[in-house]
Amino acid sequence: MLQTAQELIKTVSKQLNLSDEDTEFLLSANAEHVFEIELSDGTKHQAFRVQHNNTLGPYKGGIRFHPDVNLDEVKALATLMTLKTAAVGLPLGGGKGGISINPKELSPELLEELSRKYAAHLSPHIGPDKDVPAPDVNTNAAVIDWMVDEYEKVTGDTSKASFTGKSLGKGGSEGREAATGLGGTFALREILKHLGEEKKELTVAIQGFGNVGLFFGTLLPKQLPKLLFTAASDSSGGVSSAFGFEPKELATYKSTGKRLVDFPEDDSVPLPGDSILQEEVDILVLAALGDVITEENMKSVKAKIILELANGPVNEKAYDYLTERGVIIIPDVLANAGGVVVSYLEWFQNRAQEHWAEERVNAELERYMVEAISKAYDYSVKHEVSLKEAAFALAIKRILEARREQPETSA
Ligand code: GLU
Repeated sequence: MLQTAQELIKTVSKQLNLSDEDTEFLLSANAEHVFEIELSDGTKHQAFRVQHNNTLGPYKGGIRFHPDVNLDEVKALATLMTLKTAAVGLPLGGGKGGISINPKELSPELLEELSRKYAAHLSPHIGPDKDVPAPDVNTNAAVIDWMVDEYEKVTGDTSKASFTGKSLGKGGSEGREAATGLGGTFALREILKHLGEEKKELTVAIQGFGNVGLFFGTLLPKQLPKLLFTAASDSSGGVSSAFGFEPKELATYKSTGKRLVDFPEDDSVPLPGDSILQEEVDILVLAALGDVITEENMKSVKAKIILELANGPVNEKAYDYLTERGVIIIPDVLANAGGVVVSYLEWFQNRAQEHWAEERVNAELERYMVEAISKAYDYSVKHEVSLKEAAFALAIKRILEARREQPETSA
């Protein structure tokens, strides 16, 4: 994933005729915090926070708890955050954190201890004007609330603006939980509008009908009522139906803790493993993890449009191959930016000591998404580049312009 992000930065830097020094500036991270957390059960876990770039504002990005977390992955995700916040026009930089652990195997007490120890260690390096972490894969408002509490104890800062993705009672924003999924529905709607296809009866498959994918699926009919949702998967495998599913019905079924692959509808067909990626659909939504479409399986992808709701789900080789084949990839830095947009609105509300209604938050989110998609789409048509290259180019220009305007710091 790091290679995918870095290669694209290099390609776009060449298209923009950037100096080697500028390209290096965009590739390198400002700081890498790598440490070990020892829990009271005696287990030890590698923890990371990469602060990639803060030219536009404080570092911003989530914290993931996953066994595959490693320094390179966190660096890649931090790099993507720098480009994402810039591509959607936020006054924020990019960072990312993670702990290499499977949180599902932890008791609630150990999960709390892990979250608190992570925040305590990083307290000197984060804060409302320095670095503002948020949830990501396998982390949620409860984890963030523990981190905020710990951060407050260590630093005495009670502004709540040190983290976003907090629960509503602890300074969180309305609409934050659904924001990444809702933002994805705006991104898809806007691209289909630009393509003149928003009224067509297109079929959709969602890989990763968990948190983000589930919000996306259930909120999609409001934006694009004509779309037919024909397949969904989770880690158990998936299910498809030529007649389509009611997203809400699937969501209700999942909320009882059952596996999608067992979904009992007469006309539905179970999809083993990752076979959803090869479904005969118009739109494939990737809402699980990174690097799911690679040189191994890219040739069997049949969708015409891919929405990257996860970070980095299509690797570099697959991205080049699919783009060459005419597949439109709505890139992660736009498609899933809804989460960080509402994080920004949460941070803004905390600082202004305000609490906005959900309608206001969602209207602002829509405004950011529509504008970012429209700018990237226009750039991609004008310069004959893919949407991802367009989003990267616009982000890079913004960062470098801000860098040039900053006063020289003495050595
Ligand atoms: N983890 C989300 C992302 O990858 C949100 C980050 C944030 O809200 O800071 O964009």
